[in-house]
Amino acid sequence: MGGFFGAVSKKDCVFDLFFGIDYHSHLGTRRGGMVVLNENGFDRAIHNIENAPFRTKFAADFEKMKGSMGIGCISDYEPQPLLVRSHHGTYAITTVGKINNVEEIVSKLFACGRSHFLEMSGGDINPTELVASIINQKDNLIEGIQYVHELIDGSITLLLLNENGIYVARDKYGRTPAIIGSRGKNDYCVTFESFAYLNLGYKEYKELGPGEICLVNPDGVKTLVNPGNKMRICTFLWVYYGYPTSSYEGLSVEKMRYNCGKYMARRDTVKPDSVAGVPDSGTAHAVGYANESGIPFERPFIKYTPTWLRSFMPTRQEKRNLIARMKLIPVHDLINGKSLMLIDDSIVRGTQMRETTEFLYNSGAKEVHIRSACPPLLYGCKYLNFSRTNSELELITRKTILRLEGNCDRETLDSYVNPDSDKYKTMVEEIRKELHFTSLQFNRLDDMKKACEIDEDKLCTYCWDGKE
Ligand code: SF4
Repeated sequence: MGGFFGAVSKKDCVFDLFFGIDYHSHLGTRRGGMVVLNENGFDRAIHNIENAPFRTKFAADFEKMKGSMGIGCISDYEPQPLLVRSHHGTYAITTVGKINNVEEIVSKLFACGRSHFLEMSGGDINPTELVASIINQKDNLIEGIQYVHELIDGSITLLLLNENGIYVARDKYGRTPAIIGSRGKNDYCVTFESFAYLNLGYKEYKELGPGEICLVNPDGVKTLVNPGNKMRICTFLWVYYGYPTSSYEGLSVEKMRYNCGKYMARRDTVKPDSVAGVPDSGTAHAVGYANESGIPFERPFIKYTPTWLRSFMPTRQEKRNLIARMKLIPVHDLINGKSLMLIDDSIVRGTQMRETTEFLYNSGAKEVHIRSACPPLLYGCKYLNFSRTNSELELITRKTILRLEGNCDRETLDSYVNPDSDKYKTMVEEIRKELHFTSLQFNRLDDMKKACEIDEDKLCTYCWDGKE
């Protein structure tokens, strides 16, 4: 997915920038980048963060860099921020999102006279470079950013830094957040995650609306393009991607997860000895479940955290699974002969949950009941770039439906969305048997939407119901 942070001040902003970006490390595993603007122009650093945390990789840059305005990112894919020289002058740019129609846009830009794009290893064009090229098609930056919103199929939220300040533009339908924080009269920050500025002394100034564009500099915040009225914020931000201390649209991730647990507990009839969350993604959902049901929350297995940093997360799935297993250590007295309920945010391919369940049986568990805080995933995300496996063909739901029906066309998938239908119940039972769970239940889509506490028309639920 990726995240960003930017800061402007009349003094040096590098301290805030460094820690603000670092607080986005849970959103990406590949690249980190930061750029500052000072009297000598731009100073930028980009590093690979696959095997070492952002703070370690950027420690030397942190000591060296100076500037009163800067932006940076944690990127799950391309190296960024990019420095771009154009007829708008030189600017730095960083983006979060996904472009589905890259080839179409590239052809269009070639037809308009663009001579080349640099390719990254693997042959892809850097999506942030593509966004800059679109911006450069227009006479001014604002029209250029609006042209990005118009042209791309997908979603792009961006920060653009030049001598005027930071332009922050939230994607057209507000799938990802963009928030401005303020501290005193002249210090402002822009951030993806709302909690990233709290320990730096900022308070919320405003959360941008869908498609809104603002200019932020030490003199203040100016809205350049008003927000649109159609919002489709990513529900997965609350369920899994967001950090528990973040809030979107006024609701914290932690609270939303308690709500999910609460609604699941209200519909459940199973009475296990304890409720646990897969650490850390299922913990808050399990707390919500335990509080509502009165069944004790326990930790039958615990992550060995001192040396397994979150940032050490290879992008290859097999390695990720292996490492996920290496980190978990059982607590035998809490498992032996017990009936356990285990909750996670979602079940994607099912392999990790099956391995965890086997691990609990092997450690002496009598029963392992699995609950997923989100409904069965039927579609891959079209709007955001995730490192987590999101190939539709690998989804356990798709594999099961294909086995049952012989196809996964749109009509067939639609018939599996309703949790009260026989087809849905058959699919869940098939998944349960295949993964060797004692029982399996998914949170219902209507309950998950309710857990977000905002108008449900404002939520993106495409990956569960295919509705755009
Ligand atoms: S499709 Fe799913 S993951 Fe993608 S933006 Fe919508 S809710 Fe989020």
